[in-house]
Amino acid sequence: MRIHHLNCGTCCPAGGRLFDGRSDGALAHLVCHCMLVESSAGLVLIDTGYGTRDIEHPHHRLSDFFLTLNNVQLRREETAVTQVRRLGFDPADVRHIVVTHLDFDHAGGIEDFPNATVHVTAREKEVADERQGGAFVSRKRYRPQQWNDAGKWSLYPMGGGERWFGFDAVRDLEGLPPEILLVPLAGHTWGHAGVAIREEGGSWIFYAGDAYFHHAEIGGEQYHCPPGLRGYQSMMEADRAARMANQKRLRALSLEHGEEVRIFCAHDVLEFELLSQQPVAGR
Ligand SMILES: [Zn+2]
Repeated sequence: MRIHHLNCGTCCPAGGRLFDGRSDGALAHLVCHCMLVESSAGLVLIDTGYGTRDIEHPHHRLSDFFLTLNNVQLRREETAVTQVRRLGFDPADVRHIVVTHLDFDHAGGIEDFPNATVHVTAREKEVADERQGGAFVSRKRYRPQQWNDAGKWSLYPMGGGERWFGFDAVRDLEGLPPEILLVPLAGHTWGHAGVAIREEGGSWIFYAGDAYFHHAEIGGEQYHCPPGLRGYQSMMEADRAARMANQKRLRALSLEHGEEVRIFCAHDVLEFELLSQQPVAGR
């Protein structure tokens, strides 16, 4: 399986280093780390960032609150569909999309791939459709207009699957090879999940989505997160206890099995640059 790491959306919120821990100047930098996987079941997109329709109709598709707060850059060249074409593939051949959750910065590209089945936890789909009773953040974060036209969904339970390094995992994603696992990681949203992929040779990469936001939140005995990202995560959390517990488990996994499992999250620039071998535009 060949894995392409794609940044499908750059955000430059105010705050610089206080927000992201590393940017010089007044603005911070976050990516939307997605992956295109060349699998035995065809092309699989993991998370979708912002899509063509977000670029064309930002105020219909996205909330002004998050457009402003995150200073979303909306670059057509960063959409997954543009990058799939640039890699020499036909977007019609993307048959599967696995999304960690349905937040606006992960679901925006879904409708650019009309032939794809969308795989997500049932809980996430349910909460996103209901927008959880209309609370402020829920109404702004979940944008049903981003996925209403999606053709086919495959929904999965949050628990009761196989064990994977101590986590519950769904191994049999419909139509996907057994090397791609959905690993529920509730907290950021109720139905949030990570995606683990077994590489040739037996090691794993584990995309943790928004279970954490800064590389120094895992991988070391000492937890570190800059204040901006700490505040953003608190604002966005659906279940604080679950989020903290899952972050703790990820930190333990990174310390105990760092050789076998490479963990990364959706929005950290350093992790993206290391895995993609590409510098992030605009930095
Ligand atoms: Zn996100």
